[in-house]
Amino acid sequence: MPSPTSQWQQQSETSQLPSFYSPKTEAQRPTEDDVDVSQPDFSVSVDPAPAKVNSDDAISDAASSVSSLPPSTPLNQPPPDSLLSPAFTPPSTPGTSTPSLLLQEPRGVPVDSSIPTGGCGNKHPRLLETLPQVECIVRARIPTTTGAEMFLHLYTNNMDNKEHLAIVFGNNIRSKSLDAVREGETEMDRLIRGAYTGRLYPGRTTSVDPKHAATGGQEADGQPPLVRIHSECYTGETVWSARCDCGEQLDEAARLMSLPSNKSGGIIIYLRQEGRGIGLGEKLKAYNLQDLGSDTVEANLLLRHPADARSYGLATAMLLDLGQKDVRLLTNNPDKIRAVEGPNREIVVRERVAMVPLSWKGRGGFRAPEVEGYLKTKIEKMGHMLDMGALPK
Ligand SMILES: [Zn+2]
Repeated sequence: MPSPTSQWQQQSETSQLPSFYSPKTEAQRPTEDDVDVSQPDFSVSVDPAPAKVNSDDAISDAASSVSSLPPSTPLNQPPPDSLLSPAFTPPSTPGTSTPSLLLQEPRGVPVDSSIPTGGCGNKHPRLLETLPQVECIVRARIPTTTGAEMFLHLYTNNMDNKEHLAIVFGNNIRSKSLDAVREGETEMDRLIRGAYTGRLYPGRTTSVDPKHAATGGQEADGQPPLVRIHSECYTGETVWSARCDCGEQLDEAARLMSLPSNKSGGIIIYLRQEGRGIGLGEKLKAYNLQDLGSDTVEANLLLRHPADARSYGLATAMLLDLGQKDVRLLTNNPDKIRAVEGPNREIVVRERVAMVPLSWKGRGGFRAPEVEGYLKTKIEKMGHMLDMGALPK
């Protein structure tokens, strides 16, 4: 009988980590290797012929149309009823798309939460009457394994003791609370806490670089930045869990924000609210209940937690601190739109950009019965705008 240790050794001898492993070990361009058949634990659906012939089309469909069909679906068949996009977008004609679409900006759907038909769902989340107070206490440049660069902003607040984060792509998005001058601080203090413009270099002594004067928060091209509100998921982001798609979504949000074509920058608000706000210990209990037959919503309710205990006031306050009033929100969850906009619509979501699982688009990612059950519950019980019909069989 194999001991757990020998099983682990066997696992770790596998030459390639699953494709959702983060940080990435190599460049981003997806290849057939993204479908990792060497991992017996992930029931990967391989459909080599159409995926190969149409790989660029599949990519372009995915990048340009949230309602697009998987590559294996015949084009003469009507698409499934889409919950994903208020406006139907026909699948693209093969051969008419340019192969570079993986590098193109994602297409957003305009939304307006002030009108009932604005594409923001029917639920009105209960919001705090006033926004929490937040302060960015330090910021640092982080070169990433994909080659992109971002600035990690660490926030404190008056609601909890957690260190919530803003991951900022682009050079012109600035934190007001970080840049504010603190009493008695020296130029070196400002450099150390990241309140500088331009770049640091050995020997630099002043925090203001005249060549990089702050431009007031917005990036150059006038379009609102891409914004993703992401809740910490230790299991999905760090220990390769296939029970949810959080790791993949975080990677994909960062990829979209760091595309060369995205001139408007991007912000991932990373909230430390593990397990929809119930904490890691309770989340692990919920997983055991799921293995006993409950879905993710039922499991939380059995543990006497609300199905979703997260709150987004911190995200609204952090976005305001980062100088943002209008955003393009990366989400499948229509209820997140009003939640992020704040109690008095302090922020306005102009567009919603869908996050389609990579494996649904024939672009790698991973398939597992657990994550498909999880996504099904998100769609059926939590109003997520994803199209189950688009899930490859
Ligand atoms: Zn997760």
